[in-house]
Amino acid sequence: MSQYDFDLFVIGGGSGGVRAGRIAAGHGARVAVAEEYRYGGTCVIRGCVPKKLLVYGSEFSHAFEDAAGFGWSVGESRFDWPAMIAAKDREIGRLEKIYRGLFENAGAKTFDGRATLKDAHTVVVNDKAVTAGTILIATGGRPVKPAIPGAELMITSNEAFHLKEMPKRIIVIGGGYIACEFAGIFNGFGAKVTQLYRGEQILRGFDHDIRSHLAGELVKSGIDLKVKTDVTKIETVAGGLLVHLTDGSTMEVDAVMAATGRKPNTDGLGLEAVGVETDADGAVVVDHYSRSSVENIYAVGDVTNRINLTPVAIREGHAFADTVFGNTPRKADHNDVPAAVFSQPSVGTVGLSEEDARKAYGEVDVYRTTFRPMRATVSGRDERILMKLVVDAKSDRVVGAHMVGPEAGEIIQGIAIAIKAKATKADFDATVGIHPTAAEEFVTLREKVKA
Ligand code: NDP
Repeated sequence: MSQYDFDLFVIGGGSGGVRAGRIAAGHGARVAVAEEYRYGGTCVIRGCVPKKLLVYGSEFSHAFEDAAGFGWSVGESRFDWPAMIAAKDREIGRLEKIYRGLFENAGAKTFDGRATLKDAHTVVVNDKAVTAGTILIATGGRPVKPAIPGAELMITSNEAFHLKEMPKRIIVIGGGYIACEFAGIFNGFGAKVTQLYRGEQILRGFDHDIRSHLAGELVKSGIDLKVKTDVTKIETVAGGLLVHLTDGSTMEVDAVMAATGRKPNTDGLGLEAVGVETDADGAVVVDHYSRSSVENIYAVGDVTNRINLTPVAIREGHAFADTVFGNTPRKADHNDVPAAVFSQPSVGTVGLSEEDARKAYGEVDVYRTTFRPMRATVSGRDERILMKLVVDAKSDRVVGAHMVGPEAGEIIQGIAIAIKAKATKADFDATVGIHPTAAEEFVTLREKVKA
């Protein structure tokens, strides 16, 4: 019998922690988990899932507009924000129960409360000391706001999911995933949306063609996108918020949403006292096996600030559990991780951008097409899809695939398998397209973009 109360104590019941705990329990470990809020973590409670439901909801306005081209007369439509939020909350409540159930059915003990570290083998939760052989930190991250006067008047994605009323005029600050996604959500629901980005072009780090193409499509969809512009001050005025911008102008809006990045949740966890090293952003520093600077303390997911995506956290949690409790040491694979931005239109991407591929491989061949989606030919919507393949010229391997357009995430998921399997451009060419689809363009790209 172990000298500890549990073999594994997981702090945080989100995607990474839940997977790690379940798999460890399956390997025979005695597992406990502490969650201070609701099971499911950022993804289920205030991230991917509610966001995608709002994306679905907001897309109907485009569908109503497009229907006319196909002979429909759509009557007057009216959107009810509280009804949408209530429907979303019901679904989140259902999923949360499933998450908690997954743990309990795996035989793990759940603590509803905030856990902090007392020493390398002891956590304190609800004033009770609990000991464990291994501790896993899976506490995720949280949104950060820019430090400007009036920052307290801003909302973040956390609050956006619970607004009593939908803002009619909103500024979304940021050019990353969350800013692009929420700008599209509020725009689709009929708000007047201004998206501000401090740099030259949104989606820094993505392929340059994706960035400029998406920016153009967002503007066409009705979002007022202002780059090289930021907020300097926010104040309350009668009827709304007065927002001061770096170009000296002001705007009056109902809400300002900061989508300006996220920070690992490590404050007040007791890491310093125990000797767990964190970096300048507060992320737990880990090795390839997710082990921290303290031998029996591990960390997975956003709290480690590696690739902050749910499926990556899940894989890190699974690899950790197999390594420590399953006698199968393995590292989570962080290469060629596909991702989607659920903007409207959406972005799908896997592998290297053209810029990064040039750095990594020297000579690369680029294949690119833009075209009008078939649906838009009849609906009349001013919309173009972009698809792009980046190929290592020496080996003919496709090292990057990128798309802006409807269902980009669904399409790139399949392409990601080919890229993971190291498919060559010749393999893509040998694949028969499915006609008529947009995705078939990925196997019919013939002409290299001239350098
Ligand atoms: P990102 O890091 O993607 O984007 C933050 C944006 O805010 C950047 O454009 C950044 O500009 C800007 N910014 C940062 N600080 C300031 C500031 N002080 N003033 C003005 N602008 C600022 O963060 P997000 O919050 O959008 O998302 C966090 C992470 O969550 C993502 O990176 C992703 O890993 C994950 N995520 C994934 C989703 C998905 O898979 N669909 C959806 C949502 C989130 P700059 O470029 O100049 O630094």
